[in-house]
Amino acid sequence: MFEQSVHDEAAHITEIRRQLRRFVAARMPREKRIAWDRAHTWDRALFAEIADMGLIGLTVPEEHGGAGVDITAAVAVIEELAQGGTSLAGPYIHAAFYGGMNLAENGSPEQKRLLPGIVAGKTLLAYGLSEPNVGGDLASVETTSRRDGDEIVINGAKRWCTGADWAHYIYCLTRSGDPSARHHNLSFVLVPTDAPGVSMTPLEHLNLRYTASMDVYFDDVRLPASAIVGGQAMWNRGWELLAGRALDVEKIEITALGYGIARAALEEAWTYAQQRRQFGKRIADHQVIRHKLVNARTRLAACRHMLYHGAWLADRGLPCSVETSMAKLFCADVGVEIALACQQVMGAYGLSDAYDMERNVRDLLGMPIVGGSSDIQKNNLARMLRL
Ligand SMILES: Cc1cc2nc3c(=O)[nH]c(=O)nc-3n(C[C@H](O)[C@H](O)[C@H](O)COP(=O)(O)OP(=O)(O)OC[C@H]3O[C@@H](n4cnc5c(N)ncnc54)[C@H](O)[C@@H]3O)c2cc1C
Repeated sequence: MFEQSVHDEAAHITEIRRQLRRFVAARMPREKRIAWDRAHTWDRALFAEIADMGLIGLTVPEEHGGAGVDITAAVAVIEELAQGGTSLAGPYIHAAFYGGMNLAENGSPEQKRLLPGIVAGKTLLAYGLSEPNVGGDLASVETTSRRDGDEIVINGAKRWCTGADWAHYIYCLTRSGDPSARHHNLSFVLVPTDAPGVSMTPLEHLNLRYTASMDVYFDDVRLPASAIVGGQAMWNRGWELLAGRALDVEKIEITALGYGIARAALEEAWTYAQQRRQFGKRIADHQVIRHKLVNARTRLAACRHMLYHGAWLADRGLPCSVETSMAKLFCADVGVEIALACQQVMGAYGLSDAYDMERNVRDLLGMPIVGGSSDIQKNNLARMLRL
């Protein structure tokens, strides 16, 4: 286990890491990690233990039942949970970030009343941005919401709406006016997944298999206007909720997951290389393997600095759109390099389901795509840096 990551952090974060390292080692053994991944599922009882530790509250102010916002600590939670795969790190992001962070920052007073249930791990959210025709270009959302007296009516479809089958609400981006207005005329709506007119079908995929992702259909879904995220004043102002701090934190949280998985991959390869012997010596003593591992570890250290620097800025409310985009871009792309190098170090066993490596590689291959692709980060960086 790499210890370097605990020397320059606040004591309470070191303590959270210690607690979670014990938890992952004791409660998430490799055979369970493999079984959860195969079944596209996660363990509700274990998740309840995470909630009982108070960790979901790290994105929620105390006045709403949280522990006070500490993004750096929440990032460390994701990193440590990712040592057991995505099966708890994924649901943790749904609870602490899609739910806790978004509603604490953007919710109406009524929606903020959901926060204690979110902190307790009992209320979960899914994120409904992508659609069949909408990936990186979120301003082209086609799912519509229209006002009808005191109600809103939603029609359309969301794709890749991960966790919609078990989440209580979808934090859903909708087109609430003329499509030519692009970034204007968008509204976030909190859609209960059991509302009449909501249906869904699962999507098969290789990465982030803590659950099936979902195609979700909205057929004249009628909700009270109080379902508009932030209240009626935020009607047609959804882009403001998407493009500001929420997006910065979204980039941090997905980067934390990728970074945590890359660390897990490297730790496995590092250990393996010291145990496996070929040509009369440990493979770690062959120079090619040594260089691969040290190169990967150096890159991992660079990722860590970028990730935690972004979190440090976000925690202080400082501008961090450039830093978080750079972190997402760099860590996702370098994560793929680390994954492939580590898989090679383990030879055939890097392809075997007896180890974590093949799953970690699948998850890392997806990181330059999900949560804003590397190409989109480059476009955004060029714009933000006024190139
Ligand atoms: C397992 C999984 C879980 C997911 N979970 C969720 C979720 O919970 N909620 C959600 O809303 N979404 C989710 N997604 C969707 C994910 O965020 C999108 O896949 C991602 O935003 C990219 O969109 P796309 O795949 O449609 O690619 P597209 O936008 O169609 O892009 C395809 C390719 O073209 C490139 N490209 C597109 N536009 C440009 C451009 N202007 N300049 C340069 N290159 C460009 C992209 O980088 C990419 O390589 C999930 C996806 C997966 C695989």
